[in-house]
Amino acid sequence: MSRQERGVTLFAGSFNEQLLDGFSPSKTVRNIFDAIGEVSTSTSNSPIKTIVLDERVVHNNARVSIDAIRSIDPSAIIVYSGNHQQADADVSVGQDVTAERLHSAIENASSLPAEFNLSDEIDLDAVLGIADEVSFSKSTSQLGDIDLVRTLMHQPTDFRNTLLRVLQEQTGWTYCEIIDDESCAPDTALTTSLRYGHQEHGCLAAIGGSTSDLQRWGRWASCWLELHRKQRDLKLLAYQDELSGAWNRRFLKTCFNRELNLAKESRRPLTVMIFDIDDFKHYNDTWGHDAGDEIIREVVKLLRTIIRKGDHVCRIGGDEFAVLFCDPEPPREPGSNHPTTVEILAKRFREQVSKAHFPKLGEEATGVLSISGGLATFPWDGVDVDAILHKADERLLQSKSQGKNSITIGNPNSKE
Ligand code: GH3
Ligand code: MG
Repeated sequence: MSRQERGVTLFAGSFNEQLLDGFSPSKTVRNIFDAIGEVSTSTSNSPIKTIVLDERVVHNNARVSIDAIRSIDPSAIIVYSGNHQQADADVSVGQDVTAERLHSAIENASSLPAEFNLSDEIDLDAVLGIADEVSFSKSTSQLGDIDLVRTLMHQPTDFRNTLLRVLQEQTGWTYCEIIDDESCAPDTALTTSLRYGHQEHGCLAAIGGSTSDLQRWGRWASCWLELHRKQRDLKLLAYQDELSGAWNRRFLKTCFNRELNLAKESRRPLTVMIFDIDDFKHYNDTWGHDAGDEIIREVVKLLRTIIRKGDHVCRIGGDEFAVLFCDPEPPREPGSNHPTTVEILAKRFREQVSKAHFPKLGEEATGVLSISGGLATFPWDGVDVDAILHKADERLLQSKSQGKNSITIGNPNSKE
């Protein structure tokens, strides 16, 4: 993504003029409250896509501050600038970072699709239930390339740890770590940047070896990290919708299957919501296809602020979406009622869409967009994926035929 496309960079705290001069457009605020205010009032005309947080403005509350920003805009890139790594941020840099290094750290972080951030990489294979059930233990006294290949194939989220273990075993270094920026390294460590072509993978910091050894192993590690990145990117391409960053139909089917099996095993209900934007053709015809695209992205963004951590948003057609509500509900008692939590979430989402301001639809656009949807729940509405999806679709059509802007729930005890 180019720098222009990344929008405004917001600096919260004090940064040197030279660094600020390297970012345009940018804004500076002095405290975290102003930063949160700026993010919540940012518009599509000048969106704040990146927030650089000085560790001094968040003190000991970095996680709370980062969570607050994410709850307003889950797609924003959050950079932490301080003397140590901040795992909740997308990337950490030292306080004396240069503009060039900061640009490259941001571009690196932004190359990940919106559903992910670097510090919280989900185990896609596990979510989809396609992880190979191969258990392997190390057969020889030292880990080697074979262990890296196996981890890459079977436990990709453990890859960095295995890489570091191989490094430490092979070199005898007393310390080694992959860090975002060399200024985060311990004082006595040597560092080398991990780069493969134009792709940055942070820095390798080590104690106990020579500079030439570190550089040699750094080149070796960069190749492996690049292979790991490529493998993950290919998997994401297969399961993610490029326009919105939501998952695609293939993901829905695969993930739904796995979640349904888990729900059956633990006697939990599982709900899916399918919804479709009302009169979307009209928005395309009136404001243009680009505005339509932006609405699709905004709707996904809004949805992510409402659903829970384990739930999944999928775009399954042009203006049609599915939400798989996977957050575990308590086990189902015989004769128990439909779960109400997801019904409340679905209702809140529909209300928020109809109140939302979509700047691409003009200044007075509040309340012009609506959605229609249908909810279906295992076990009440079906016991296999196709039957449950079919039921949700049927209820979506019912919402459309009854005047749109509503969600048909199918629970006799509750009406939306
Ligand atoms: P209804 O209320 O019955 O849903 O009416 P509708 O106008 O939304 O009709 P429908 O859902 O059948 O049409 C979906 C439209 O979405 C058709 C197509 O022009 C538009 N569309 C599909 N994919 C994209 C896309 O990627 N971007 C944009 N901008 N428009 C898309
Ligand atoms: Mg539609």
